[in-house]
Amino acid sequence: MAKKKEEELTYVDKKGKRLDGRGLTDLRPIKIEVGVVPRADGSAYLEWGQNKVVAAVYGPKECLPKHTADPLKGRVNFYYRMATFSVPDRKNPKPGRRETEISKVCSEALQKAIFLEQFPNTAIDVHVEILDANAGTRIAGLTAAAVALADAGIPMRGVVAGCTVGRAGGQIMLDVTKEEEDAPDAVDIPIAIIPSTEEIVLLQMDGLFTKAEWEKALPLGLEGCKKIAKLQEAALKKRFETKEFLESVEAERVSEQALPQKPRVNPVVAAGPMLSADASETLDEENQEMEEALEEEVEQ
Ligand code: UDP
Repeated sequence: MAKKKEEELTYVDKKGKRLDGRGLTDLRPIKIEVGVVPRADGSAYLEWGQNKVVAAVYGPKECLPKHTADPLKGRVNFYYRMATFSVPDRKNPKPGRRETEISKVCSEALQKAIFLEQFPNTAIDVHVEILDANAGTRIAGLTAAAVALADAGIPMRGVVAGCTVGRAGGQIMLDVTKEEEDAPDAVDIPIAIIPSTEEIVLLQMDGLFTKAEWEKALPLGLEGCKKIAKLQEAALKKRFETKEFLESVEAERVSEQALPQKPRVNPVVAAGPMLSADASETLDEENQEMEEALEEEVEQ
């Protein structure tokens, strides 16, 4: 019965308007707020249509368990979770296959953007909580996570920005809703890019496009990603230009000067698994000896 009702829906009317009144190339309303979780190293809250997402970043920190550490680069642990109340049918709180898959693809997308080689043997934990869901939550989560990473000061090639493109009622459209995702001919394609290089870091396809449809959909999706990147940039600028933020940076600088310096990442951990504390001391001594020898040479 429900299926029959869906088939009767007109996904795009004669004026080119969709069920929620948007045009084919319009995004849902988006709001991004940065620095919403004071305990985290970086965080963001994002509303994308009905979707509501919180992202919090912790790290770079020591990678535990230690055998999972990579001596050449840092790890990105992405945890995508949906709240039990985020969808009409109560979501089982236990992470399922879908959450594992989304966490994996989002982690891989962020790995392409972060200069992970600067953080060997460390882990960056990225937590994404979906509080309310209406299609496109992986992209909303990834977009919020990228902003949270920038807020945490993690060096990146660019802030990853994403968007979905799809088909409903025979029409190619940007940013599909749940209703459109449930259309009989639905196709849903999440895309994420690094806007500065246009490198695609996430691309999935639920449904099938013809070649002609794909040629129309891809530029539309990329355009959508670039619009999202502008919103991310504006949100970050807003955060870093506030009086409170500038004051907090100044307060941190003063307190750091007053206290003995404590490295955020243990340098021994960062140097590699083969390097014990003793080995690191020996290296320091050797370096000092080499420097002294060089100085002597220069003096002569
Ligand atoms: N959804 C749901 N229950 C679930 C998982 C998903 O109702 O357990 C809904 C939710 O609105 C979600 C949509 O189905 O946004 C589409 O899910 P999909 O797996 O395509 O991922 P998304 O589009 O959210 O990235």
